Amino acid sequence: PPDVAELGRSSWTLLHSITATYPTAPSPQLQTETRSFIHTFSKLYPCWHCASDFQEWLKVDKNAPRVSSRDEFGRWMCEAHNAVNVKLGKNVFDCNKWEERWRTGWKD
Ligand code: FAD
Repeated sequence: PPDVAELGRSSWTLLHSITATYPTAPSPQLQTETRSFIHTFSKLYPCWHCASDFQEWLKVDKNAPRVSSRDEFGRWMCEAHNAVNVKLGKNVFDCNKWEERWRTGWKD
């Protein structure tokens, strides 16, 4: 099975990078496809206990993916990542800095 930490780092890089290049004004169709992507991702994520907890988190109404703009989606992804950070006892990331970290760039 994949290394859970390495898989996680690679996956968050992909997910935050997707939000960083997401349109500022996505079409209704892309918004539907994006919700669908998150849903499918949560079923296919190759760490079963991670996937299962992520699916449960997604089921909570207030955690529904916000995909109406790059900023909304980027912040939503940051919140999703923070939920995992909290679960693992890691520091919570300041979501006002998501774009600086993942779009305009600073080094890890
Ligand atoms: P990571 O958490 O991988 O973060 C990488 C970099 O992202 C950080 O260095 C920081 O610069 C930046 N970052 C941190 N927080 C945020 C944020 N909120 N928003 C934006 N950028 C941020 N691991 C488990 O052990 N158990 C689990 O149940 C589990 N569930 C997961 C569920 C999902 C959907 C994913 C994608 C990963 C999951 N992981 C899980 C992996 C876990 O989240 C980490 O990726 C892994 O522990 C490695 O952590 P890390 O400290 O190297 O940094």
